[in-house]
Amino acid sequence: PPGLYIVATPIGNLGDLSPRAASVLSRVETIAVEDSRVTAKLLQRIGIRRPMTPYHDHNADKVRPGLIARMASGPVALVSDAGTPLISDPGYKLVRDARAAGIAITTIPGPCAAIAALTLAGLPTDRFFFLGFLPSKEKARAEAIAEVAAIKATLILYESGPRLGATLKALAQGLGDREAAVVREISKTFEESVAAPLPDLAARYADLAPKGEIVVIVGPPGEQAATDPSDAEGLLRVALAHMP
Ligand code: SAM
Repeated sequence: PPGLYIVATPIGNLGDLSPRAASVLSRVETIAVEDSRVTAKLLQRIGIRRPMTPYHDHNADKVRPGLIARMASGPVALVSDAGTPLISDPGYKLVRDARAAGIAITTIPGPCAAIAALTLAGLPTDRFFFLGFLPSKEKARAEAIAEVAAIKATLILYESGPRLGATLKALAQGLGDREAAVVREISKTFEESVAAPLPDLAARYADLAPKGEIVVIVGPPGEQAATDPSDAEGLLRVALAHMP
């Protein structure tokens, strides 16, 4: 049926493309893609040939109305280069405008690096805050970190190898010695997850630009409240936690 299908694709391992995702991709009229070379490779590997419409930050405003018009008469899929569209990737305005135009919208859920990394970090998952990519300029980055320092939640950030060292250093400066994890190459051959306090991670990656794609997870602010002498309940909680 006509409409917009938000289709998640693998973040490394092709086996993570769901049968439903493959089935939808094989019957849509066009696939809105970030980079047609990347999606062409995926389609080739699963033996599908469908027309693609480039849809990325630089042409989105121009292309969007035409895509919306097509969704009214036939099915259109949106994919990104990897993972779940709209998550640090283009698409939210397409969904917004499709919604406004009364187009049926559905999602084929699947891989998302942020969620996959969260499940590997061994840090609290009950409340988390997704930051996407931090600004690359030092001052803006420090400001962005200061803005979230008081949030009582685990933080999730996307990062690239060359910037990892600087980012960890800034995080350690802005957030102190919280527990954290660097999760790399999820679902690929060299998947790796390194957990340590932020200053240790900053030291470890100071002169090391690891290859591949990276998610940084930072645990929530510590139990400082529990060591506040006026917080009797907190003290009791800490004492009980240390009982044999
Ligand atoms: N929409 C995607 C998703 O659902 O995860 C994210 C797109 S964003 C442009 C790309 C970033 O996601 C990378 O720089 C990296 O931080 C993270 N990422 C993507 N694939 C990954 C993987 N296999 N392992 C670790 N991080 C990954």
